Amino acid sequence: MNQLTLPLPDEDATLKLGADLATACMGSTVIHLFGDLGAGKTTFSRGFLQARGHKGNVKSPTYTLVEPYQLHPMAVYHFDLYRLADPEELEFMGIRDYFTEDAICLVEWPQQGAGVLPEPDLELTLDYQAEGRLATIKAVSQAGSRLLQKLQEQG
Ligand code: ADP
Ligand code: MG
Repeated sequence: MNQLTLPLPDEDATLKLGADLATACMGSTVIHLFGDLGAGKTTFSRGFLQARGHKGNVKSPTYTLVEPYQLHPMAVYHFDLYRLADPEELEFMGIRDYFTEDAICLVEWPQQGAGVLPEPDLELTLDYQAEGRLATIKAVSQAGSRLLQKLQEQG
């Protein structure tokens, strides 16, 4: 089982998917978030961050490219690469300091960093479907497969 599709009828369902994945994440994990503007990538990230103990707002780091959250037991780095002009800019911002053994990285618009961004464990795609969204979660590493399995077992 390497792929899972889930209907998300409303915003709460997107937040819950973020929270469920956050709960399932035990070790360092990289999740790439695909989908058009307004598809729910930041909403998903908010559900994820709040479930890992972040209190307060989550805004898209559209201009800063990354927002760090120093949470316990692991930091979460939330990227939005929409405005990245060139993947090489990631080298200048010290990308390797973020993708470490003790961090979780959520990356919106990962296609903007192609060739420089590390490979993800999971790829989440959000598509518009009627009034809601359809989530497709694809595991692209062994850790990602285990995570997906755990997500299904959690129900
Ligand atoms: P993105 O980061 O992909 O550009 P945002 O999360 O910033 O998107 O915005 C998504 C918008 O869609 C928000 O207004 C949110 O309330 C809404 N939304 C999120 N998930 C759903 C859903 N499953 N169904 C309907 N609306 C949703
Ligand atoms: Mg966003």
